[in-house]
Amino acid sequence: MINVTKTFIPNKEKYKKYVDQILDSGWLTNNGVFAQQLERRLEEYLGVKHIVLVSNGTLALQIAYRALGLSGEAITTPFTFVATTSSLVWEGIEPVFVDIDPNSYCLDSNKIEEKITTKTSAIVPVHVFGNACDVEKIDEIAKSNNLKVIYDAAHAFDVRYKDKSLLNFGDISTLSFHSTKIFHTIEGGALIINDDEVYNKVRLLINFGISGPDVIDGLGINTKMNEFQAAMGLCILDEIESIKFNRKNVYEYYREGLSKNLTFQRINDNIQWNYSYFPVEFKDENQLLEVRKKLNLKEIYPRRYFYPSLETLNYIKKSYKVEKSNSLAKRILCLPFYDSIDKETLDKIIEIVNSVVDNDKCN
Ligand SMILES: *Cc1c(COP(=O)(O)O)cnc(C)c1O
Repeated sequence: MINVTKTFIPNKEKYKKYVDQILDSGWLTNNGVFAQQLERRLEEYLGVKHIVLVSNGTLALQIAYRALGLSGEAITTPFTFVATTSSLVWEGIEPVFVDIDPNSYCLDSNKIEEKITTKTSAIVPVHVFGNACDVEKIDEIAKSNNLKVIYDAAHAFDVRYKDKSLLNFGDISTLSFHSTKIFHTIEGGALIINDDEVYNKVRLLINFGISGPDVIDGLGINTKMNEFQAAMGLCILDEIESIKFNRKNVYEYYREGLSKNLTFQRINDNIQWNYSYFPVEFKDENQLLEVRKKLNLKEIYPRRYFYPSLETLNYIKKSYKVEKSNSLAKRILCLPFYDSIDKETLDKIIEIVNSVVDNDKCN
């Protein structure tokens, strides 16, 4: 069975050694040595100022909203994983949807300003499939309207923009280290923060507000990363260059083989991308369903990322006209994409996809 992704398992002997060390030390969680090591190594590897590890990417978003004191409304995209929206609603912030740019799949920065009201406190864009948003324009809009910017950068691990980390943009960027992501810690996530004060606040928020042995300084919650998770991250970080290299090769193989009748995401010219997903756009939903059915018959399971467009969620009470997102969500499929996928499988997928889209073209 071939799925859309396959969790990367690092060198087992190395991971087992970490597990032995953790068990021998008896220190299993609470800002342990491996969590601290992983934070330092990630700060250096990614080229960011502060990183705070947390238990997952969804809570990274929720902590970010709390740390920056969001309330009222936040402008965001309907074309993303549900957690971008659900995290806002969970924190009592109303998501206000702005349509996407149909080429980049990211929030259309030309449509943000018309949605700003007196209740707007932030913009929450997503670097969709690791593609960079219009970060400079979004920064400008946020500054001139006194808004916070939180990037859901769950897909943007290790993406560089004009030779610096893309994660440096916004007040906070959040990452997900879920097993399905390029770099993972089983479950996990992180906040990337430039401002020292915000950083100190986040440190308190993730650990019940405890600031010292006898001091509780404000309301907090528990979103700590444990040592077994951190050890997984340390092992995978040792192998990240070969993961990237292999993914780039798979990407190029797909692009070479797949029909020119398909449409692909346009990647921002200013970035070094991370080859995180392989989305393809079909001409309509029927074509997508036919391709999926044929792939499923061969036990190949691509995923409809992202479907449905989130303005259609049953807990969104207002109605939105976000036609580009709505149309894309019905036509887009992420093909199986991971570092160890073999040529034979890729050839099979390419043949099936092409047989449908090229045939449709002739009719
Ligand atoms: C994976 C993902 C999340 C949530 O991360 P978890 O670690 O699974 O909680 C949030 N936003 C986007 C865009 C994601 O893809």
